[in-house]
Amino acid sequence: MTMPTSTLWGSDSDQQVTCISCGETLAREDAREYDKYGDRWEREGKTFEYLCKPCHREYCHQNREGLEEALVAADAGRTDRTKFLRRFCELTTESAKFD
Ligand SMILES: [Zn+2]
Repeated sequence: MTMPTSTLWGSDSDQQVTCISCGETLAREDAREYDKYGDRWEREGKTFEYLCKPCHREYCHQNREGLEEALVAADAGRTDRTKFLRRFCELTTESAKFD
């Protein structure tokens, strides 16, 4: 990262998004859109969640249904980032336990 972030949301071609999994900030064009609600386009905001490529790849190899449940359970997009990421982390860690 060499570019300053002062122009965040400055233009469509230079938009930055935050990975909902690791919190990494990356260019929107490099991110993977993730709509945890699938086809619920009528919901308020119509905002997408974003995953960086490493996380997206990781989740493709994991139980995606579990991720969706965790995202919804953690109130993704309806609570502040820090709180959401903490809850999401707890939920995914919990579901990763085998005993
Ligand atoms: Zn990530």
